[in-house]
Amino acid sequence: MSLSSVQSTLSTLKSCQTDVGGCMDMVSDVALGIVEAQGTADCPALNKLEEMMLECSRLDIEINCFVESVDEMTAQVRHEPPDAMVKLKDSVRNRYNELMAGVSDVDLQRHSKVVAFKDSVSKFYNQASQTPTENAEDLDEDIAVTQSQTNFICPLTQVEMVNPVRNKKCQHYYDQEAVLEMIQRRHRNKKKFRCPKVGCGNTDVQQSDLELDLVMRRMIQNQKRQSGKS
Ligand SMILES: [Zn+2]
Repeated sequence: MSLSSVQSTLSTLKSCQTDVGGCMDMVSDVALGIVEAQGTADCPALNKLEEMMLECSRLDIEINCFVESVDEMTAQVRHEPPDAMVKLKDSVRNRYNELMAGVSDVDLQRHSKVVAFKDSVSKFYNQASQTPTENAEDLDEDIAVTQSQTNFICPLTQVEMVNPVRNKKCQHYYDQEAVLEMIQRRHRNKKKFRCPKVGCGNTDVQQSDLELDLVMRRMIQNQKRQSGKS
């Protein structure tokens, strides 16, 4: 086995990680659906979903540990004679076991998407319980709707966001598709991508700074559904 084939296998594994992340977003969105339908932030179904989140978290960490051990060990044998490659499998396995032995339940809980899951469930529950009833037709509600509509506008596309992502560094929101395309385009030209929000001093927006905001996405969808009704 050559080192280049190891690298291509690793990149396949890394793309699996993207799918694990997408799966975690989906589980979180189902949880918000339950909060919305049941009007509670504490029920067996939600506990089950949290367990699923922790399983995904473990899978994600396992992939990280595996990639790390392969990277470390291949770096060591790169300049050694070919027979060192034979021992690579064992040394990767040992290093992987070492890394995984240091992973605790706390690490699973600390996964950014597990943290976001819990935050969005409680945030969404608080918001849903504060929403005035649909029958209340007063001026305040109209103002609230108008204000929230402007917040849902993407500074890049100037239209309502479909998949809002929040920038963890400057807290600004953009539509996922638009911002990823802009970042990639700028990076292809070896340039940084500056946050498009007027007055923002963030001059280097990275893909890793962005986090899908499922609560906002649901609010946008709900508002669209309600305005379609009236
Ligand atoms: Zn910004």
